[in-house]
Amino acid sequence: MKRKTFFKGLALGTISLPLVIRSCGGDPIAQQNSNTAAIHTEKKYKWKMVTTWPPNFPVLGEGAKLWAEWVKVMSGGRLEIEVYGGGELVPALDCFDAVRNEVAECASGAAYYWAGKSPAAQFFGSIPFGMNAQQLNSWLYCGGGLQLWEELYAPFNLIPMPGGNTGVQMGGWFNKEINSVDDLQGLKMRMPGLGGKVLAKAGGTAVLLPGGELYTGLERGIIDATEWIGPYHDYKMGFHQIAKYYYTPGWHEPGTALEMIFNKEKFESLPEDLQAIVRCAAERLNQWMLAEFDAKNGEYLAKIKKESSAEIRSYPDEVMIQLKKYTEDVIQELAESDEMCRKIYASYQSFRSKGRPWSDLTERAYFEKVDI
Ligand code: CA
Repeated sequence: MKRKTFFKGLALGTISLPLVIRSCGGDPIAQQNSNTAAIHTEKKYKWKMVTTWPPNFPVLGEGAKLWAEWVKVMSGGRLEIEVYGGGELVPALDCFDAVRNEVAECASGAAYYWAGKSPAAQFFGSIPFGMNAQQLNSWLYCGGGLQLWEELYAPFNLIPMPGGNTGVQMGGWFNKEINSVDDLQGLKMRMPGLGGKVLAKAGGTAVLLPGGELYTGLERGIIDATEWIGPYHDYKMGFHQIAKYYYTPGWHEPGTALEMIFNKEKFESLPEDLQAIVRCAAERLNQWMLAEFDAKNGEYLAKIKKESSAEIRSYPDEVMIQLKKYTEDVIQELAESDEMCRKIYASYQSFRSKGRPWSDLTERAYFEKVDI
């Protein structure tokens, strides 16, 4: 259809849009007249949500509770969800199995925790030197990413939804300068996931310590460095009191997505309007969490600068270039590890390479020029 005809057609109302519109979240918002009876049922549902976060953990745990509250209000109290912190109902890292096995109907966590269940899950958490929050959301909602995520979790009887994003994280706290890749040799650093594998290729040692042991670990030299999240959470951990340098950027987590997972049968047994409410609240949570991270991180960065003698440094270009090369090796190994990894990585890469010129021309160009 020619452009002129299209606009004329819209103005005259002679072009109708498809009856079934898929929202960005991938849920069909169908013409539901025939389902009216099914929607307006007064049946009440009581669900449990388990989380991988300590109870009331800032932003992440708070977000899970907000989501449950939004669902309750939007559903007029027909769907009530009790939220449990990690360890309250099941151990934090048992959330995936707890939802599969109907111990709870849903969970809030992060996909890279489930790398042991399926290595491809890591593409839905964060990839070192990968897409940032804005780009990742674009791939998930509008570039086929979410459909692949659903395909990956379907054999586990689970439905995933994006449930937040940290934004670009910080590079971590160090007690020595990082001037070249050689400075990473022998470095014992808390660095989970794929970032840890990249650090190992650079000669460092990725140490996995629980959050609660990081402060004393760094203070006593059990580890030489640690990454965590960003200024807000890092300040609460107290790292600025004991580390000399705070490096940026968090090349290893350039926009870590959080997730919500739902027991497939339990979700599909909800009436359609409640399903839509659950999805809408998840999309609201996804947006709220990134906004909250940005707001709090700005505030706490200023506090760290004011209250701490820790120096904020950028990783030298030479270090970033080398880490990026090691990352390519790590991702290639991951992509070759199984069929779903190959399929998802192909989609991730293809979307990224198409979107990147646009991001460079606009977002990147803007930030480079805004302060000139
Ligand atoms: Ca982190």
